[in-house]
Amino acid sequence: MSVKWGLIGASTIARQFMINAIRAQSDGEVAAVMSSSPERATAYAGENNILLAVSTLDGLLGADIDAVYISTTNELHLEQALAAVRAGKHVLCEKPLALSSSDARKMVAAAKAAGVVLGTNHHLRNAGAHRTMREAIAAGRIGKPIAARVFHSVYLPENLQGWRITKPEAGGGVVLDITVHDADTLRFVLGDDPVEVSCFTQSAGMAGSGLEDGAMCIWRFKSGVIAQSHEGFTTKFAGTGFEVHGSEGSLIASNVMTQKPIGSVLLRTAAGEEELSFDREDLYARSVRQFHTAIRGEGRPAATGEDGIWSLTAAEAALQSASSGKAVRIDPKLGSMN
Ligand code: NDP
Repeated sequence: MSVKWGLIGASTIARQFMINAIRAQSDGEVAAVMSSSPERATAYAGENNILLAVSTLDGLLGADIDAVYISTTNELHLEQALAAVRAGKHVLCEKPLALSSSDARKMVAAAKAAGVVLGTNHHLRNAGAHRTMREAIAAGRIGKPIAARVFHSVYLPENLQGWRITKPEAGGGVVLDITVHDADTLRFVLGDDPVEVSCFTQSAGMAGSGLEDGAMCIWRFKSGVIAQSHEGFTTKFAGTGFEVHGSEGSLIASNVMTQKPIGSVLLRTAAGEEELSFDREDLYARSVRQFHTAIRGEGRPAATGEDGIWSLTAAEAALQSASSGKAVRIDPKLGSMN
């Protein structure tokens, strides 16, 4: 049986990655798209070969669909997810799940009560590079993990220089945009949860309205691992990377904080250097594939709703730290990942 998807949001991410990811599944179908503007809905549906275009949430939720993919601006996720859950639809929601972790908890609780699947589209844990690093660490190949470094400062493409840098009310800013991903990827790769963060943010010239376009965080994890992460919208030539350093070795990944299955992972130990191979499956296709598995009751989304709560709680703590100038604890009673 195929999974019929309704897209909530005529967005760039759906157009560039998620429509293809759904269509890459043998059992995936993009049945409808909703935009707040009837003209944009029709144009988007036409450009992307989607049969049904609607401009209201009720119109979309009343259509013949099984699941929704929410990729509107961040302030809309809560209300749209709750409505979809009420209509009995499974929900794959973009990060951040909402503007606050308490709202995210409401979404996850509602989905649980309704018996529908809710997942967070943290694509990076679907990357072969990160999965290989996680496996190498779990297998003890770097000994005891000591420290990690995430390099995730990019240049926001011109076509995306909109609400992210102008609208605090839409959940703009680099922390809700990129730090959430880094918090999730650190949790996933280390198999550990952050307990505390200290963060500095900056406005380096791109973001207005008091929003930040650069951030550096220092994280402490349950196991005692410390990590640093750098997120930015304004650096054109920085490159990305992810390193984990342990007592017996280091993992050094380059060009891996990206939307594509690219980059490299090097393992350096006393025995020398080894390039680790990993699968190159499309990150978003894997996300949808896992979500379909969860709908069939045979697994879980790659990133669950609980994972989305964690990443948003971590980002929220980072923002709080940046404004208070103090380290902020990340509530650990949310539970740990598998
Ligand atoms: P976009 O700015 O492309 O789309 C967001 C909304 O803006 C759309 O829902 C649409 O509203 C409106 N919009 C889009 N184009 C136009 C236009 N030309 N004129 C007027 N309004 C327009 O956002 P993104 O695709 O970059 O991000 C959407 C969500 O996805 C966010 O939550 C973001 O955090 C997340 N994201 C996740 C990524 C990941 O890899 N996991 C990567 C990128 C984004 P309407 O639907 O009403 O037409």
